[in-house]
Amino acid sequence: MVTTKVYRCDSPEEELETAWTEEGKDHFNLCHKCGKWVCDAMYNADVLHCADCTPWENKPKYCSHCGLKVGITDTFCRRCGTKLQYREVKDDD
Ligand SMILES: [Zn+2]
Ligand SMILES: [Zn+2]
Repeated sequence: MVTTKVYRCDSPEEELETAWTEEGKDHFNLCHKCGKWVCDAMYNADVLHCADCTPWENKPKYCSHCGLKVGITDTFCRRCGTKLQYREVKDDD
């Protein structure tokens, strides 16, 4: 039986740190922008950022390559196959 504990995303930082130490890095991802460790559900793997730095709302609506309108659930452009990347949130706008 698997006894892996489930850690909530909104756990206090100490708890996440404990989880990280005990469980390893498997379920945690380093945000390359703010340096925070976040769980899978809060990680935007496309840009290696946490969802705080690059929120899900930043999902592109158009293909950056051919300009085709894409659906919110699309990962690749249906016309040219370009991987759809999240837009980064600029701090200094
Ligand atoms: Zn971040
Ligand atoms: Zn395209």
